[in-house]
Amino acid sequence: MARQKNYKPLRQKALFRFVAGTVVNNSLLRKGLIRYIQRKMWNNLVKTNKGKFPMQVQIDKIDMGKALFDSIHRNMKKKLFSKQWITKFTGIHLANLETRGEKVRAATKRLGFEPPMFITISPAKECNLRCPGCYASSTAKTIDKLDWDTFDRILTEKRDMWGSYLTVISGGEPFLWEDKGKNLLDMVEKHDKQFFMAYTNGTLIDKTMARRLAELGSFTPAISVEGYEEETDRRRGKGTYKKILQGMDNLREVGVPFGVSITALRHNWDLVSSDDFLDFWFERQGATYGWIFQYMPIGDRSTFDMVVTPEQRMVMLKRLWKAVREKKYFMADFWNSGTVTSGCIAAGRPGGYFYITWSGDITPCVFVPYTETTIMDIYKKGGTLEDAIMTPLMKRVREWQASYGFTLIHHQPHQGNWECHAKNWLAPCFIRDHYENVLDAANATPIKPIDAGAEVSLDSKEYHQWMLNYGDQFNTISSDYWNSFYLASDKRDNIHANPKQNPSVAKN
Ligand code: SF4
Repeated sequence: MARQKNYKPLRQKALFRFVAGTVVNNSLLRKGLIRYIQRKMWNNLVKTNKGKFPMQVQIDKIDMGKALFDSIHRNMKKKLFSKQWITKFTGIHLANLETRGEKVRAATKRLGFEPPMFITISPAKECNLRCPGCYASSTAKTIDKLDWDTFDRILTEKRDMWGSYLTVISGGEPFLWEDKGKNLLDMVEKHDKQFFMAYTNGTLIDKTMARRLAELGSFTPAISVEGYEEETDRRRGKGTYKKILQGMDNLREVGVPFGVSITALRHNWDLVSSDDFLDFWFERQGATYGWIFQYMPIGDRSTFDMVVTPEQRMVMLKRLWKAVREKKYFMADFWNSGTVTSGCIAAGRPGGYFYITWSGDITPCVFVPYTETTIMDIYKKGGTLEDAIMTPLMKRVREWQASYGFTLIHHQPHQGNWECHAKNWLAPCFIRDHYENVLDAANATPIKPIDAGAEVSLDSKEYHQWMLNYGDQFNTISSDYWNSFYLASDKRDNIHANPKQNPSVAKN
C-alpha cells in the first residue's frame, strides 16, 4: 500500500505531462488552449484589475501575451518546431512549475522580496566579428572568460535557490566559449532542466550545431540582424548576412525555433521598424520572437550620432505596438516595452534579472556597466548568488524602481490618482532615461566601470550632459503620450469591452 502511495504522484505527473504534450502537439487542441489562457489573462489582468494599473498598461500585457502565443502557434503550424523540441520544451516548463513556487516562497522569506526570474550571463568576451560600437567591445581570442566551475555553480544555484530556470546568454559570441575542453552546449546539456536563450551573431550555426540544438530542446538562439545584406555587412563584415540566412535555414530544417535581435541605430531605425523588414524576418524567415535594442552610446562622442533621437524612438514605439497588436509578432524593445514589465527589470527585482560578465563582474543590467564586486569574490568569501543582489548599487536601483512605481503598485491599491503610483513607463530606464541616477550612484557608492568605454562615460562631463539632455527630451515627448493614452485609458468607453468582441481594444 505504501509503495502504491509513493508511485501515485509520479503516475499523475507523467499522465499530466502526456496530456499536456498531446494538447501542445495538436493544432486544434492547442488553439483551444491558447483561447483558454487568453481568457484567463483577460480575467486576471483586466476584469480584476481594480485600479491596480492604468487599464492600457494591462491591455499592453495582454496584447503582448497574445502575440507570444500566436507567434508560437503560427510557427508550429508551419512545422518550424520539431516534435522532439516541443516535447522537451514542454517537459522543462512543467517540471519547473511543479517545484518553482516553493523555492520562490522560501527565497522571498530570506531576501524580503521575490527573487529575480533570470540572469543574463556573458561567458566569453571573444567574438569572431568586429562590429563598430559593440557594447561588449568584443575582441579576438582573449582570456576574458568565465571558468566552467563558476558558470556551472551559478546555473545550479539560481535554480536551487530561486527556482529560476531561464538563463539568457550574451557575449562576445557565446558559441566560442569553452573551458576544460567543453563548450556552451555541453553546459546546456548538463543543466537539462533549465531553458536557455542566447544572443548570437548566427554565423557559427552550421548543420551539426543545429542538429545538436534540436536534440537538446532547451535552447533558442536570438540572431543579430540590423538590416538586409547591405546594412548588415556594412557593420558586421562582408558575407555575414549570407551566413546568418544559412544559419536560419539550418535551424528551420531541424525544427529549432529562433528569434531575431535587432540593433536600432540612427541611420537604420526607419528600416528596422518598417512593416516590410519585420514581415521578412517573421513571415519569410520564420522568426518566433524579436528583441529590439536601441543603440546605447559608450563614452566617446563619436557614438552619440549612432543613437536614435527621442522623436525617432516615439515613432518606433508606435510601430512596435502596431506590429504586436495587429500582426501578432512577439517583439519587445528594451526601452519601449516598459508597460509590459511594469518598468525597469534590472537589479534582480521580482520578475527581473541582473548581469554577470566574462570577468565575473556583477552589474544591475547589461546596459549599466558598473559593478561593486565579482561572483568569484563572493564565492571566495563563502557567499552565494543572494549576496550578488544585496549590494548597495543593486538596492539603490531597486529603490529607484520603487519610487518610479514598480513596488508601490504591487503593494498599494490605487487611490484614485495615478501620478502617485506608476510614473511614465514609456521612459522606464534607470540609465538611458534618468542618467542622474548613475551620477548619484557614483557619488554615493564606490562603483567601478567594467570596461574602458564605461570609464570614459563616467569621467566625461560631455557624456553626462548628453545623456541628461536625451533623458529630458524623451521624458517631455513621451509624457504627453503617457498621460493621454495610458493614464486617461480608464475613461475610454471601449476599454472594458469583451475581448471576444474587441480583441485589441486600444489602437495606437
Ligand atoms: S536599466 Fe534600462 S535597459 Fe536595463 S533593465 Fe532597466 S530599463 Fe532596461
